[in-house]
Amino acid sequence: MIRTCVFFLILAILVVLTAWVAEHPGAVLVTFGEYRLHTSVSFLVVAAGSFAFVVTFLDRIWRYLAVAPHRIAVTLQENRRRRGYRALTQGMVAVAAGDTDEAGHQAKRAEGLLHDLPLTMLLSAQAAQLRGDEGAATSYFESMLNHPEMAFLGIRGLFMQAFREGDEENALRLAQRAYRLHPKTPWVVHALCDLQVRAGRWEEAEATLKDATLRKAIPSNEGKRQTAVLFLRQSEIAEGQGRDQEGRRFAQDALKLAPNFAPVIIYCARLSVKEGDVHHAEKIIEKAWLKVPHPDLAATYLEIFSGEDMLERLSRIEKLGALRPDHPESHLAIAEVAIDAKIWNEARRHLTETIATMPSARAFRKMAELEEAERGRGRRVEHWRARAAEAPADNMWVCVNCNAIAKSWSPTCANCGGFDGFRWSALRSGSIDSAGASRSRRVDRSGGFSGENLAMPNR
Ligand SMILES: [Zn+2]
Repeated sequence: MIRTCVFFLILAILVVLTAWVAEHPGAVLVTFGEYRLHTSVSFLVVAAGSFAFVVTFLDRIWRYLAVAPHRIAVTLQENRRRRGYRALTQGMVAVAAGDTDEAGHQAKRAEGLLHDLPLTMLLSAQAAQLRGDEGAATSYFESMLNHPEMAFLGIRGLFMQAFREGDEENALRLAQRAYRLHPKTPWVVHALCDLQVRAGRWEEAEATLKDATLRKAIPSNEGKRQTAVLFLRQSEIAEGQGRDQEGRRFAQDALKLAPNFAPVIIYCARLSVKEGDVHHAEKIIEKAWLKVPHPDLAATYLEIFSGEDMLERLSRIEKLGALRPDHPESHLAIAEVAIDAKIWNEARRHLTETIATMPSARAFRKMAELEEAERGRGRRVEHWRARAAEAPADNMWVCVNCNAIAKSWSPTCANCGGFDGFRWSALRSGSIDSAGASRSRRVDRSGGFSGENLAMPNR
């Protein structure tokens, strides 16, 4: 807009100047040696203007021609870069879609267009993995180690290869290297800790958890729980080898770190019973029940008094339930023993209370069991079974790494070998029984980075 105004202003000045010159005719005489030039002022003005115009025009053309090769080169380079990134994107999409041919084709295009851009190495490595060429993938991952900005991804790729091949020694070395580069990345912490536990490097695993907690790579409560599980595993080993005192010490340390984590309480209670200290076992379960009522705690509590008759057991569980009288787990625990003791009304009352606050499949199944035990098979039993089938899934011990389920908690998953993987949570689709599953389903705490995708850690 401003440029247009300036143009019209200059044009107006020129018109006015031309008109003024035309109205005031005059002559110009130029003498140079023997030459004399005699002309009008108007002609001289027009000649000077034309000369200035031609000089400016030629200057513009000269400047344009001088920079043209550079401009053409930049444009070609930009087009090449754009096509390279398009190939890179299409290659990544092909990898995610599992399209081997397209991934390989786009990887080659990206490599040709972007030359040695480190990101193309990642695509080429993934495309190689997709077509099953692990050797080529390894060389791409190794090349990435030479680029500081891609070194972590290269280590990660090599780590996953080593892990899948079962080369835990190499995987541990790579996990240590990854930890040095990115100590705040949760999957690195978990992978390193898993491998240290697997190698029996307890002190190193403990140090990793401590360092990761200080760096806030993992939440403080998670670090404490994992360290407690570490102590629990060491206690199990010490007990198994007859080093009872050491085992007890580890168990006490675990209890201090995770006083409300059911597996730790159960382990310590059983250890106390083994040592003849039933009172201590009873107290730690009661203390934990006050905070976090858990069905495994109730089962262990009854286990302590397994020699007693049904009515005594009912009285024991009522004592435990009275600590959290309104909690559904208290009602359910009492109802289960009342059914065994054939005290139907008491069982029904507690199950009704449970269903009112926590309408779980477990409560409905118990109601069906009660009806069948009291009155035999009939419509009522079918009714409760149907409701159990429709109710939300019960909580179980589910491995966060491989989705395996287990009847009882253990420090490591029997399926994937992951350390501290079990969480008390609802069953998810695709869950498998950890006891019967194959060991071939390996832990994948890197969030499934196996060449098929670029998903980030999900733990
Ligand atoms: Zn698992």
